[in-house]
Amino acid sequence: MFSYWEKKHFFDYELIVVGSGFVGLSTAIHYKKKHPKANVLVLEQGVFPSGGSTKNAGFACFGSLTEILSDLKSMAEEEVVALVERRYQGLNSIRTHFGDSELGFSQSFGYELLEGSQEEALNQMDTVNDLLSPIFKEDVFSLLKGTGSMGFSNQIKWIVKNKFEGELDPGKYMASLWILAQQLQIRILTGVTVKEIRHNEGTVLAEDGGGKVILGFRSEKIAICTNAFTKNLLPHIAIQPGRGLILLSRPLGFPIPWQGTFHMDEGYVYFRQVEGRLLLGGARNKDFKNEESTEFVVNTKIKSHLAQLAAEVIFPDKKVVWETEWTGIMAFGGIKSPIIRQVGGKTAVGVRLGGMGVAIGWQVGQELSELLSSM
Ligand SMILES: Cc1cc2nc3c(=O)[nH]c(=O)nc-3n(C[C@H](O)[C@H](O)[C@H](O)COP(=O)(O)OP(=O)(O)OC[C@H]3O[C@@H](n4cnc5c(N)ncnc54)[C@H](O)[C@@H]3O)c2cc1C
Repeated sequence: MFSYWEKKHFFDYELIVVGSGFVGLSTAIHYKKKHPKANVLVLEQGVFPSGGSTKNAGFACFGSLTEILSDLKSMAEEEVVALVERRYQGLNSIRTHFGDSELGFSQSFGYELLEGSQEEALNQMDTVNDLLSPIFKEDVFSLLKGTGSMGFSNQIKWIVKNKFEGELDPGKYMASLWILAQQLQIRILTGVTVKEIRHNEGTVLAEDGGGKVILGFRSEKIAICTNAFTKNLLPHIAIQPGRGLILLSRPLGFPIPWQGTFHMDEGYVYFRQVEGRLLLGGARNKDFKNEESTEFVVNTKIKSHLAQLAAEVIFPDKKVVWETEWTGIMAFGGIKSPIIRQVGGKTAVGVRLGGMGVAIGWQVGQELSELLSSM
């Protein structure tokens, strides 16, 4: 039962955004900047954003050498270059907009560990550098000398350095988005799950956390930014969820002989250090089928694979004790680009960010806001 005041002030908007991850908040912010008088509401089912934006590893990356080579097998060269450019520009635009210290960003460089069987990737490094030279104007990838100084097992034969990669703190990035959204007077309601959208009427039906209160919002425009969970609202959208697992160790208690962001296995495995701890995640490719899920559950097969990599490859002969673990959910599809399009008279989506939402979330929000403005 709602009061006269609630009915008068809380249910009608010019834009409702569903989902408050990087894309949802970026969309609301870009739209509000363009239309300062617009009444904008963001609805989020979790207390915090509950998909990928605050669950990720904080890699400010745009693709490792083997990941780009793998993409080149299924995509045209121009498409791969465009994808890398979009990610790199996305990173530059959040750094310019929010500032490195607000994002906890550091240009610590990226590295990829290669085993003996991956020599072919090295042979193609110059070709990939040439391909990317219009974007970066200099070589992105180079072979690191003195591989042994990083202490990895001798299974690692080569390390490829990427001087344009860095890392950030996803919690700080989210906090920056929250602050900006508040400054712009964007209303964010959490613990509200959208159950149905009537695309041509502009009606958004939602439930509160207990599922008891049904809320019927109305809006001139609606942005769906629910990434991996979008099939609940748009059953036919071309999206597959992909769960990601991250393990974080206790402070290691010994000096870590490396710094930066590290990739293995075509980008499926990644690790970095966080305040003297090892953050290690990924390996979805070890059990693709079971990881096509929106359930926040730890896959024990993947967890043991990661733990084994830590013990045998990253810190051979040293003890790593795990302090915590978590999962997050990403969205993938047959092609790697996001879906940004109108899906109804008053509705548009900005979803399918893959494993690169840190880099492209802000820009996807900008593009979606422009699309909404033109509708
Ligand atoms: C383990 C892991 C590691 C990752 N590491 C990196 C990395 O290092 N670098 C990188 O660039 N990217 C990384 N990513 C990917 C990145 O986090 C995502 O691409 C990005 O967060 C997607 O942002 P989004 O806003 O589209 O989606 P999300 O952050 O998932 O936001 C969608 C929001 O919609 C809400 N929602 C869904 N359905 C409803 C509904 N019906 N009603 C209301 N709210 C709803 C969800 O609760 C969620 O908060 C990683 C992801 C994971 C899971």
